[in-house]
Amino acid sequence: MANTVLVTGGAGFVGSHLCDRLVKEGRDVLCVDNFFTGDRENIRHLIGNTQFELLRHDVTFPLYVEVDQIYNLACPASPIHYQRDPVQTTKTSVMGAINMLGLAKRLKVRILQASTSEVYGDPEVHPQPESYWGRVNPIGIRACYDEGKRCAETLFFDYWRQHQLPIKVARIFNTYGPRMSPDDGRVVSNFIVQALRGEDITIFGDGSQSRSFCFVSDLVDGFLALMASPTELTGPVNLGRPDEFTMLELAEIVIELTGSKSQLTRRPLPQDDPRVRKPDIEQAREKLGWEPKTPLRDGLRMTIDYFDAKLRGDPEAATTWDKRAA
Ligand code: NAD
Ligand code: UDP
Repeated sequence: MANTVLVTGGAGFVGSHLCDRLVKEGRDVLCVDNFFTGDRENIRHLIGNTQFELLRHDVTFPLYVEVDQIYNLACPASPIHYQRDPVQTTKTSVMGAINMLGLAKRLKVRILQASTSEVYGDPEVHPQPESYWGRVNPIGIRACYDEGKRCAETLFFDYWRQHQLPIKVARIFNTYGPRMSPDDGRVVSNFIVQALRGEDITIFGDGSQSRSFCFVSDLVDGFLALMASPTELTGPVNLGRPDEFTMLELAEIVIELTGSKSQLTRRPLPQDDPRVRKPDIEQAREKLGWEPKTPLRDGLRMTIDYFDAKLRGDPEAATTWDKRAA
């Protein structure tokens, strides 16, 4: 078993849950983050744990450490954040991948890339299997993220072909849960925070566009299964929950679960916003024995519970949601 695991982007939403799980499994974790979108609160409970070390570092610069495994998650994931400094977003995906692949090559260790369903762009194939090459606008406002992640996948597969580096590529579909930032800007956190505050719920466009939502602990299960899989299984493997909801349906469910009196309000649909998105997860089912366990309503209840505590200023919000849910 790999003893020391590097998690880049470890202070972010998904990364912090991954750090928790690895520590729980007895690994030593080196969490690397530049806090572009990450939050110390997400990992505060791990500081002081002898299995956990935090390093402030930007992955666009080389990193010299000794580890046994690498999960490369560093990259802002919310459109408003990755569009804030698009040049830095592309640099993070591409130069971050080059630096982390170089590190993995020197150390001869497995490296997993947190890729994204965004590589499929605004898809003409629905649901999306891994064999679909995607439809991405290379010069649009989402391209810094989509093309950055696509280039990172290219680099991963060239390191595999050219250097026989053991790589794993996970294509993650919309994932939500506790520790998303209240100002993250993605749809689940926006709707829940708006509902809890009694503010209008912002529907972009006519709300008929669809997404599939996976709870974060299910995604972490998928990461671990993929990392532990045979070397030949490089991926890409879709990780997501194959249920599809329109944004109007999501808003209704959030209003129902929070008991909010919030009304819906319309905003313009952002440029290149994908019309539909739903994973084909046959590969993950067959090759990893993985599928998500948490239905949307159950995951939303835990997430609402977290945001409720967070907005009330509860200093334990980042850690108590699963205790209350248990
Ligand atoms: P997040 O924004 O909460 O976390 C990203 C983390 O990376 C943050 O802690 C941020 O500070 C850090 N980071 C950004 N640039 C960095 C840099 N140059 N150097 C070091 N650290 C840097 O997002 P998330 O939802 O936790 O996403 C984690 C990963 O999963 C990302 O790579 C994202 O593209 C991928 N992903 C997430 C989703 C999702 O729905 N959550 C979907 C597809 C892909
Ligand atoms: N969205 C919305 N209201 C919001 C935030 C997002 O209607 O307040 C829509 C957005 O236009 C998109 C969907 O929700 O169609 C998912 O957006 P998100 O930013 O969460 O992720 P992505 O577009 O990357 O899937």
